[in-house]
Amino acid sequence: MLNDATALVSLRTAVAAAGLAVGAGHAGEVTTMSVALDFGRAVLGGLVVGWLVFLVVAAVRRHLTETAADTALSFAVPFLAYVPAEKIHGSGVLAVVTAGLLLAHKAPVLQSASSRLSERINWASITFLLENAVFLLIGLQMQSIIARVDESELTLARGVGVGLVVLLVCLVLRPVWIFPFTLLAFRRQGGQSAEAAKVAAVSSWAGMRGVVTLAAALTLPEDTPLRPVLVLIALIVTVGTLLLQGFTLPALARSLDVRGPDPREDALVAATVVASAVGAGLRSIEADPNADPSALAAIKEQSTARVNRIWEQLGDAGSETPSEAYRRLRLQMIGAERAQLLKIRAAGEVDQHVLGQVLNAMDAEEAALTVSARRSERLRETPLRAPDQIAAACEHLSVEPRCVVPDSPEGCHECLETGMTWVHLRLCTECGQVGCCDSSPGKHATAHFHASGHPVMRSLEPGEAWRWCFVDEALG
Ligand SMILES: [Zn+2]
Ligand SMILES: [Zn+2]
Ligand SMILES: [Zn+2]
Repeated sequence: MLNDATALVSLRTAVAAAGLAVGAGHAGEVTTMSVALDFGRAVLGGLVVGWLVFLVVAAVRRHLTETAADTALSFAVPFLAYVPAEKIHGSGVLAVVTAGLLLAHKAPVLQSASSRLSERINWASITFLLENAVFLLIGLQMQSIIARVDESELTLARGVGVGLVVLLVCLVLRPVWIFPFTLLAFRRQGGQSAEAAKVAAVSSWAGMRGVVTLAAALTLPEDTPLRPVLVLIALIVTVGTLLLQGFTLPALARSLDVRGPDPREDALVAATVVASAVGAGLRSIEADPNADPSALAAIKEQSTARVNRIWEQLGDAGSETPSEAYRRLRLQMIGAERAQLLKIRAAGEVDQHVLGQVLNAMDAEEAALTVSARRSERLRETPLRAPDQIAAACEHLSVEPRCVVPDSPEGCHECLETGMTWVHLRLCTECGQVGCCDSSPGKHATAHFHASGHPVMRSLEPGEAWRWCFVDEALG
């Protein structure tokens, strides 16, 4: 988004400089200094106005409780930022981006949950319509653009030729920029050059131009010399990169064996941050002297289930985990509930308003159930370890893991003795006892920690090598 804003500010400065040159008649009037000053004023003006608009809107939002009004305010923000910024010769685009980024960053504090949901859904629809409208507008103008290019001093063939050359320049410039920086970044993190080259190749080829290129071309003043040719070039670059790179990028990534983030690694990170958040939440209600013990117990149980649900995204994807079974059954039940409510509605004896509220509450639960992440289908060659950003180095985890032999590789030690079933298996790195995870009814790995004091266990699931310290509740 900042790249787009920078590009649009540069374009504006370029147009202003070109306009000056034409208006003044001597090239001498446009100095590097005047262009730099104009650029500086555009950037600074945009940032300041964006920040001021953020302050005002944030202050209003604190008192705004109505969801519809809050969403309506979000529609006004771009204009509130753009118009004043342009009035003082700042960059309106940069002001909008600044205000938008700041408001989005503070949204979890400033807005209510229903306002955030409403804003997300409404803006997704608006973005969809606007982006497609730009393509539609260009499509509608196509015929007249081609006719005007043909009439200009360039012929259509030469116009298209120039467009193809610009497309080629775009394709070549991106790797020239990306390769050195990716290699440098990998070297600083101690990564391998071969891996960096693969990543750089894929991100170089991922340079599809989109709606901003077209919109930028359409903002050129009507009296710009060769404007139709410039719009045609933008169109050729956009369509060219979208078709050429868009269709071949997946094949390139596959052939170089570059993969996106591992969903299981994401699950490890998610489990860690949710566990930390849940811990803070539970401490807050436990400290409350008026808390009802039975409500507290019910919330504790639900919170543990929430954390376990994320842990269950790991492990062998073979069988259905408890949370998957819960989700499947609950969704089936909601389907039946809804059918029953529709029957009641058809009978017409219950107030429509009440029924609507009941149905809405069910939608909320169903959405929450279907949003939860999928498990990764296929295992990677390298065993899953705790990602660097969350890996802790407590005294227990910093000890190099010993190569302990599982005492009962076929399953959880105690479950096998008592005939219970388990979900995922854990291995004590101290004595080699195999236990089951907290989603399993026995919770024998945790029980083993409490009984023996052995602090660290590792996952015994195929393709996983992450460890967990029970004492510090940390991954390593
Ligand atoms: Zn520890
Ligand atoms: Zn067990
Ligand atoms: Zn042990």
